[in-house]
Amino acid sequence: MAKGQVKIRLFSEKQPSSTLFAVTKGSYTFESYNGERSQLREGDYLVISLSNEKLGVKNGTAPAFYCDSISLVSNEEGGRFTLRINGQSPERRRYSGNLGCKPDMGTMVFINQVDIEEYVAGVVRAEGGPGRDKEYIKTQAILARTYLYKYIDKHIIDGFDLCDDTHCQAYFGITDDTSIVQAVEATKGMVIIDADSVPILAAFHSNCGGETARSEDVWLTGLPYLTKKTDPHCRSSNNALWEKTIPLDTWVEYLKNKGYNGTNINELNFTQTTRKPKYVAGEFSFPLTTIRTDFGLRSTFFSIKVRDDKIVISGKGYGHGVGLCQEGAMQMALKGYSYEDIIEFYYTGATISKVFKTETEQ
Ligand SMILES: [Zn+2]
Ligand SMILES: [Zn+2]
Repeated sequence: MAKGQVKIRLFSEKQPSSTLFAVTKGSYTFESYNGERSQLREGDYLVISLSNEKLGVKNGTAPAFYCDSISLVSNEEGGRFTLRINGQSPERRRYSGNLGCKPDMGTMVFINQVDIEEYVAGVVRAEGGPGRDKEYIKTQAILARTYLYKYIDKHIIDGFDLCDDTHCQAYFGITDDTSIVQAVEATKGMVIIDADSVPILAAFHSNCGGETARSEDVWLTGLPYLTKKTDPHCRSSNNALWEKTIPLDTWVEYLKNKGYNGTNINELNFTQTTRKPKYVAGEFSFPLTTIRTDFGLRSTFFSIKVRDDKIVISGKGYGHGVGLCQEGAMQMALKGYSYEDIIEFYYTGATISKVFKTETEQ
């Protein structure tokens, strides 16, 4: 990784077969693997399309030519461009830095070399949730940066650092949103580390329902900073409560398929006042995470009551429940807590540290 830069694969979950690249700021040097070279200025564009495992490049009115890969390098700092794929998506995403493009197994691979802090701001825009308070946005910026440093080699064998999909973290391009840009700047270089000074797994979710989950109950691996915690902050937020009704027959059938052989309907009732790892009916028990997936439930933090020929599932929270609760964090920020308070609250025992010294500190 070049200092202060990161390589992100763009449109990684799409299957781009063509793109319109347009320079929106500064100028770019276009270079193909075969040695073609030209300059693009603001307003210039290229159409790049997949053609029999090669790239066809069309620059203005000049005839198209074919090559194995191309690079577009910004001639100065702050170069910006837009990409629109497959000519159909109305969405034109905005990016900065350099771009490499090559064909691979019937699709096009775009690799964007971008400034880390600009990338972090883009992730906050894509993943940060609806909170607008500045301490909340700072918290999300630190989470996005922590993820980046923890998983910097996740795609090392693929020739880039992270992809732009939720497999890594969602990134749909740069943002000019002033509150995000300022929050990223104010927390520049900050990540959350554990007792061994390693970046933490900074898990977050929408709403914990009043109590966060232990990581070992959700992902089987226990981590000291991802432990159960009572959260008084999110209880009246949007995703605090939910309910779902399922026919009793369906529920019993489901349990039988999982090995339940009881006959007492009353033992199907199940209560969670504090989070439990498993649903229990008589002698039978089964992981709540599987039930959540199989029935598309909003969380694993629910109780079950048999009511006539139905079961009523009354749930709390939204998401896996591990780590930071976004709606609780938003409320903390609104109550005047700082990003340090919020991070300390949700990641027990973890601390904030800088990955590098800023220029003024060197
Ligand atoms: Zn990925
Ligand atoms: Zn919560």
